[in-house]
Order: sequence, then C-alpha cells, then structure tokens
Amino acid sequence: MTIDKFNFSGKKAFVRVDFNVPLDENFHITDDTRMRAALPTLKKILADGGSIIIGSHLGRPKGLNEKFSLKHIKGHLEELLGTEVQFASDCASEEAAVKASALQPGEVLLLENLRFYAEEEGKPRGLADDATDEEKAAAKKAVKESQKEFTKKLASYADCYVNDAFGTAHRAHASTALIAQYFDADHKMFGYLMEKEVKAVDRILNDIHRPFTAIMGGSKVSSKIDIIENLLNKVDNLIIAGGMTYTFVKAMGGRIGDSLCENDKLDLALDLMKKAKEKGVNLVLGIDTKAADAFSNDAHTQYCLDPEIPDGWQGLDIGPKTEELFASVIKQSKTILWNGPTGVFEFENFTHGSRAVGEAIVEATKNGAYSLVGGGDSVACVNKFGLADGVSYVSTGGGALLEAIEGKVLPGIAAIQE
Ligand code: AMP
Repeated sequence: MTIDKFNFSGKKAFVRVDFNVPLDENFHITDDTRMRAALPTLKKILADGGSIIIGSHLGRPKGLNEKFSLKHIKGHLEELLGTEVQFASDCASEEAAVKASALQPGEVLLLENLRFYAEEEGKPRGLADDATDEEKAAAKKAVKESQKEFTKKLASYADCYVNDAFGTAHRAHASTALIAQYFDADHKMFGYLMEKEVKAVDRILNDIHRPFTAIMGGSKVSSKIDIIENLLNKVDNLIIAGGMTYTFVKAMGGRIGDSLCENDKLDLALDLMKKAKEKGVNLVLGIDTKAADAFSNDAHTQYCLDPEIPDGWQGLDIGPKTEELFASVIKQSKTILWNGPTGVFEFENFTHGSRAVGEAIVEATKNGAYSLVGGGDSVACVNKFGLADGVSYVSTGGGALLEAIEGKVLPGIAAIQE
C-alpha cells in the first residue's frame, strides 16, 4: 500500500517515526529536522480523519531513564502539529492500550520511548560482565520471547502501520520491522519521508549521472570502511576529508603531529588507496590543514601542508588549498554524495572547510547535479550554514543511509515491501 492511496478516515495508525532529536542540558531541542520531516505523514493522517499512535526512540537508554523521555518533545510536537498530543508514560502498559483505544479521529497519542524496553531492540540488558556463554544465550532467548509479546502489543493499538523512521530502517527492531507482520499488505506502508529516502538512495545507487563524487568526512575511517569499499565500485571521485585524513597521511609516511589517527588502520588506508587505483577511482586527499595547538575553538592556529604538521599541533579542518581542490572536483560532478564534515565543525573556527564543501555542492546542484547529503553531522552542517535548500536531498538517516548505500537490504524497508 502507499500512503497517498490509503484513506485513514476512522482508522488508527501506528506511526513509527524517528524523533531521536538532539537535546541540550535543559532538554530543549537543538535541531528539530527529524520531527519536521515526519510532519507530512502525520498531517495527511489527521487530514483524512484518522488518529495516530506515535512510536519513537530517543537516544540509547539502557532501561527507564528520564533523561531520554519523549515527554521532553511533546510540547514541540504540539506546536508543529497545531494540536494537542496525549502522552502514554509507558509504551506497553495498560494505560497506553486504553488511551490508544479511546483515540478519536484527529487525535494523537505519543508513546514513551520504545527503547525503555529491551524488547524494542531485542537485546538482553543487565547481564553481569562475567556472564557465561550459556547465561548470555538464555538471556537472549528470553528477550526474543518477550519481544514477540511486546511487538504484538504495539500492533494491537492500531488498524494500520506506517513506517516513517528511515533513521532506524537498518535495525530489525520490534517497532521498525517485526511489527509489520501483524498487518497485511493493504495495511502497512512507508510514510512520505521514508518514500523520499528510498527514492533518493535509489537515485544514488541506480541512476548515476557521471562524474559521481562522494565526499566522506567525519572522524574515523574504521566506521566508514564498508561504505568506502562499496563506493569504490561506483564513484569516479572519492574525496576523503575530516579526521580520517590523517590516518591516510600517516600511512603514506607524512607527519601528522597530534592529529586524530587510527594507528591500527594504516594498512587499511594503504589498501583502500591501492583499490581505488586498481578501479580507476580518483581518490582525493587534502593537501593542507588548519592545525590547532589544542582541541578547542580558541586554540592558536596555523595552516600546514598535510604531511608536515608539527608535534603539538592537530588538524581540525582542511586548509584553503584543499578547499579549492575539493570545490573544483565537486563543481565538475553530476552526482554527489556528502557524508561527514571536513573538520570539527562544532567549533566555529573550524567550520570553514565544511561550509566551502557545502557551497560547492550547492553550486554544482544549481548546474544540474543531483546531490544527496546524509549522516547526522552532514545534516547539521548544511542546516547550520543555511544550505539545505540548495542541495537535492538531505537524508535524515545516518547509519541507515550508509548501510543502504553499502547495498544492504534494510529490515525496515523489507518488512513493508515483502
Ligand atoms: P562521524 O560521526 O564519523 O561522521 O564524525 C563526525 C565528527 O567528526 C564530528 O563531530 C567532527 O567534529 C569530527 N571531526 C571531523 N574532523 C575532525 C578532525 N580533523 N579531528 C577530530 N575530529 C574531527
């Protein structure tokens, strides 16, 4: 079923959203992109005359933890939807069931953080560090068993299931995938956001206009190996930026001072460079760095050539020569994927490189390129610099986007499609 075709009138919809938004120490939302992204789906259901049970996770609680309560976002959701939102302070309680069953057309019920229950993820919690393999296996079996009941309970609240949580589509969790088995094909569907995400991934994987350039930034090469390897089969240019640059520079024998480096990944870096060469991929590394004498926004800075960073200094952003180099590659591209900042963009004095990359992508997009920006930090970047409207698509998925681009089948997508 597709959401456009479904008439929600008089129906209760369980909508899995990704409201895993960043909160500051006073529980104020610092970036509500993910909430806004789910609005078209929620508003369509309400406009049809349906009611909504909203399920989400927030953070990574290891049990009940006020810090991760979804009550912190209820007020903002009410503002965004322009309607009152009820709250069930335990997502799988009698209270939740009663409130869900009493919902009238146009009403919304927000469930408490699904991950307060271990059953959401289906992973045992609270195992002693010295637990034996048998104990671990028994705990896993137990949580898998109770996961069935948990999933069934969530499913029982609604007549139909809508998955609009692309951010968790790569997880086979109760509310993101398992729940779908309780609804037939005519009563389960993607939300609008999920539809757009699936289309954007398809565009990047299967409808490539060349040259195709991927810009991979962020902190560690170890977290991006699989995607880099997969991209080597697809892209014409692979720009390596951010903290992982220095693992490559060191592997080639350069001096990186105190820059971030994964010493156990030096061989891997060389191997990736070799593979790129074999596949005819232009692997583009930075040539200069904005180095700092401390990991701080107020540190002293100097520009260094990449292989010549002195001891006591660390690379926190790309330098102007690299900005120019990256921009020239980006501007000639027809398909662009950007994941991860070029530097520690959280520090104002080290945002310049990420901004320059973002601006080059916007310019390429104006000239007809298709550009996809994804991964939490890249999204924060384009939002921070006011560039989101200038790129073709900003994905709400981090890990999910990367896994999709690695070519993996995402459980949250498969559960709706099968
Ligand atoms: P990731 O989650 O792997 O995409 O990494 C994003 C993080 O990488 C951001 O928090 C950046 O501050 C960090 N980062 C980017 N460049 C550097 C760098 N040169 N040194 C240290 N951290 C960096």
